[in-house]
Amino acid sequence: MAYFGCHLSNSKGNFAMVQTALSIGADTFAFFTRNPRGSKAKPEDAGDNAKAVAALKEYGFGPLVAHGAYTMNLCTADPEARAFAAAVLEDDLRRMAGLPGNFYNFHPGSHVGQGTEQGIEFIAEALKSALRQSVRCLHPRPGPHGCRGGNCRTVPAPPPCDADHPPE
Ligand SMILES: [Zn+2]
Repeated sequence: MAYFGCHLSNSKGNFAMVQTALSIGADTFAFFTRNPRGSKAKPEDAGDNAKAVAALKEYGFGPLVAHGAYTMNLCTADPEARAFAAAVLEDDLRRMAGLPGNFYNFHPGSHVGQGTEQGIEFIAEALKSALRQSVRCLHPRPGPHGCRGGNCRTVPAPPPCDADHPPE
């Protein structure tokens, strides 16, 4: 099944994007999670997310595509810039937990002369770290420390997977 949509602004929130998409006959859309040429993001709004999620389901939307900021360079040689990019990635994935089941698209950056191997290593490190943070919220567990979604910090992170197996 094909879904059609366009890139929309999230300046008025996630539910407003769904309404705009509906008004033009779209059943998916893309959006920037934050200022794509900076890093500033709107404050999160759980009520807005809930309305958006309900409308996406009600109207049978396909998966959305969130786009990370262009300012992220996860594999630069500059440790401060790399830390900034990793923090933005982690924040984006945490935010996406409020719109579950959708895609996140980002430009991993440029190794800027360090070589492909080093660049990929830095990108993989950042992804592993960000996923360790967000997996806690994406896989709720029952019990006294069960995560019910949102910004849960009480469930221990799963061990990192360094196994040599094909993607699941
Ligand atoms: Zn892009």
